[in-house]
Amino acid sequence: MSDIRDDARTGFTAAFGHEPDGLWSAPGRVNLIGEHTDYNEGFVLPLAIDRRTVVAVGLREDRVIRVASDFADEVVEIGLDELTPEVLTGWPAYPLGVAWALTEFGADLSAVPGLDLFIVSDVPVGAGLSSSAAIESAVALGLNDVWQLGLDRRTLARVGQRAENVAVGAPTGIMDQSASLLGAADHAVFLDCRTLETELVPLGLAEAGLALLVIDTGVKHSHATGGYGERREACERGAAVMGLSSLRDLTVDDLARAGDLLDDVTFRRVRHVVTENQRVLDTVAVLRADGAEAIGELLDASHRSMRDDFEISVPELDLAVETAVQAGAIGARMTGGGFGGAAIALVRIDDLSRIQVAVDNAFGEHAFGQPDTFVVTASEGAARN
Ligand code: ADP
Ligand code: MG
Repeated sequence: MSDIRDDARTGFTAAFGHEPDGLWSAPGRVNLIGEHTDYNEGFVLPLAIDRRTVVAVGLREDRVIRVASDFADEVVEIGLDELTPEVLTGWPAYPLGVAWALTEFGADLSAVPGLDLFIVSDVPVGAGLSSSAAIESAVALGLNDVWQLGLDRRTLARVGQRAENVAVGAPTGIMDQSASLLGAADHAVFLDCRTLETELVPLGLAEAGLALLVIDTGVKHSHATGGYGERREACERGAAVMGLSSLRDLTVDDLARAGDLLDDVTFRRVRHVVTENQRVLDTVAVLRADGAEAIGELLDASHRSMRDDFEISVPELDLAVETAVQAGAIGARMTGGGFGGAAIALVRIDDLSRIQVAVDNAFGEHAFGQPDTFVVTASEGAARN
């Protein structure tokens, strides 16, 4: 962590020629369970991870915002009075979109000073660990502090989501920003996406001799295009045919009726969401009653549902999950929006290296590119410094 903080400070000074006034950081996230449930007003159970994005912030005397990043060799500049979603493109749409989105939640930016922002991250990009929410959350918290806007973290999560939906154009839900802003060490964040109420659920992984392994397949996804939006539309269609405002109002008991009313594809999309909501509730209950060692079957069932009903997996993710489980993982599933990115495997620490080797070998045998495998720990949410 201190490394990327140093990089943010050094990068800031090199780009802008003065010292930053402060550093803010926010983590990426892994979703333990609850996929594509967030925009259906359902339940999710992500955790903030020990990979973070740091933003160094310096106040200016004019009304200009400049952003630079280790991600791209450019400095992008815009006047605060010209900030609209339409003029934002590429990576600067994330930080600058946040500045714009603050105004959508009551912030008055008419008299605030301009800023210089420099962004450094060790959250892998496009791996399903939400580097996007990490950047949005770090910037949202930083701007809220330096501009003294007084917005709470729940509102800042919505600011990040609005930036991503409108300025970036990716129709994602509220989960990632909530995990990044509300996460805590050794806990998962149980989020009800309808009420936005959250509860921290203890994971106790280290005490139980367990670790959470991320297997980044290296297959890149893009949420602004492709299947993510299509899945979202299928869910909306399913809810509309059932006469509901969202799929949250369906339970497993309603599935027979859904089967009568919906075409096959829409039904399977709906079934994933309904059963996944139930699996999140079950996972929270099992974690509390019996600990993480007992959630393996729920993770496995979640993966099958995404592979067969929601159809958002890819061969690399299926191979990672199957190989990890065969090599002794307690449970495994793809995580994130799908169509690439990463899988997670809950493993006994003693089995860790054996499972990593098995996955590497399986990818080699299938002539897939080598995956990047690493352990993540549940870590604190966005913070100053
Ligand atoms: P994910 O959130 O799964 O990593 P996304 O496609 O949602 O993938 O977000 C990745 C995008 O976020 C990048 O393409 C880039 O535009 C932006 N981004 C991520 N990290 C940085 C960074 N350090 N600096 C600037 N932009 C970043
Ligand atoms: Mg993202």
